[in-house]
Amino acid sequence: MRLIFLGPPGAGKGTQAATLAELRQIPHISTGDILRKAIANQTPLGLQAKSHVDAGELVPDTLVIALMKERLEQPDTKNGWILDGFPRNLSQADALDELLKTIGQNYDQVVNLEVPTEVLVQRMLGRGRKDDNEATIRRRLEVYQEETAPLIDFYQSRQCLKVIDGNCPVANVTQSLQESL
Ligand code: AMP
Repeated sequence: MRLIFLGPPGAGKGTQAATLAELRQIPHISTGDILRKAIANQTPLGLQAKSHVDAGELVPDTLVIALMKERLEQPDTKNGWILDGFPRNLSQADALDELLKTIGQNYDQVVNLEVPTEVLVQRMLGRGRKDDNEATIRRRLEVYQEETAPLIDFYQSRQCLKVIDGNCPVANVTQSLQESL
């Protein structure tokens, strides 16, 4: 299974992607997790990404596309993967198409987890991540609307988009996902 998770910050992409990846024994590839780890370890990528992540802005495409290329070229992606947090804008979606063509893979489905904005803010405030303060949350939601939400139409036009109600208890969302995949 090769799956792309879309959805606003706080929609539960990370939680659901991790659960499904475990159930299906395939890698969960989260650009946010990779970037947070790089920042914590102060790697060159982390040092370049930090100010963007802290401000709730997108990390420049060149950096994220390069890290994704490196990750998808690892041998553990042969049997499938779940992408969480990538692509985040149209140029990343184009880059993903190119990258997948190069490595002879393709995605099967795109899932959009829908959650009302008020619920997202409350969830993120309760999560306590460093970039989960109110100003950064607000900015991340704006960035989502401006840059990431257009991907819904992009993938819908390819007839591979599934919409899942993410405003339910975690286990129910997992069940809806399992049923739809
Ligand atoms: P996430 O854990 O997916 O919410 O990502 C946390 C932060 O990492 C985002 O607010 C961005 O600053 C950065 N980030 C994660 N994925 C991407 C991406 N695909 N493109 C650019 N920035 C990203």
